[in-house]
Amino acid sequence: ELSKTGWLLDITKLTLGENIGEGEFGAVYEGEYMGQRVAVKTIKCDVTAQAFLQETTVMTKLQHKNLVRLLGVILHKGLQIVTELMTKGNLVNFLRTRGRSVVNSAQLLRYALDVCEGMEYLEFKKLIHRDLAARNILVSDDNVAKVSDFGLTKVDAKVSDSAKLPVKWTAPEALKKEKFSTKSDVWSYGILLWEIFSYGRQPYPKMSLKEVKESVEGGYRMDAPDDCPPGVFALMKLCWEHEPRRRPAFHKLREKLEQQMAKHSPDPWS
Ligand code: ATP
Repeated sequence: ELSKTGWLLDITKLTLGENIGEGEFGAVYEGEYMGQRVAVKTIKCDVTAQAFLQETTVMTKLQHKNLVRLLGVILHKGLQIVTELMTKGNLVNFLRTRGRSVVNSAQLLRYALDVCEGMEYLEFKKLIHRDLAARNILVSDDNVAKVSDFGLTKVDAKVSDSAKLPVKWTAPEALKKEKFSTKSDVWSYGILLWEIFSYGRQPYPKMSLKEVKESVEGGYRMDAPDDCPPGVFALMKLCWEHEPRRRPAFHKLREKLEQQMAKHSPDPWS
């Protein structure tokens, strides 16, 4: 089926390079495909590969500047998923290693807006990510943040097995009743904003998963990260409204972030 659609790649045109990461189901390699630098994610287990292959079909229909682009798949030793290479790696490591001296708050806002625009596109397509977190955001060579691991999350055991849910990122109604929606993605986006403005810190520092579950249910929310612009912290709080329908949609969040951007980089004409 994929071969007809042009998403099946020719393995003889692929050159594999260094190992650049470990995924849950196999290693990730740097490589080159027909002159383009790519990342190759390997899925060794055949059963998992079958499930991933179905979900890759979702990816083939998605194209946006803030979503990591799928180039195609190779059916060899299970499944190999070929995507554009994001040379600066994932956003958590990126922010942790560079820190405040290298990345300023205007740049942080830029990453936040990048992710929001990618999510606005998924919202428009009525797709739920379910695993939105800074570890799943990758940064390109030209410094654009893009959402990764979308469309694949549904086959991930993490999702159906509630014991494996990423508790610190998951909305209360999703944790309790498995009610996932765009608005549960918005909750996760709020946590991601907190990760960005704290330069890649672990959310709810020093709290156990059990403590997080109980206290969040009881109304507890994280404090603003150090030096976080108050307008950005206000957005986090909106994302963390207990009632899903009171949380803003991604298109609303994008407008609010653009207003924040305008405040941060004063208009040179005024
Ligand atoms: P999944 O959530 O589907 O189980 P995973 O989290 O196990 O996936 P990935 O996040 O896809 O695995 O990949 C692991 C690491 O490999 C990433 O954190 C990142 O550092 C690196 N990586 C993945 N894809 C790319 C890419 N396109 N470009 C550069 N590095 C990548």
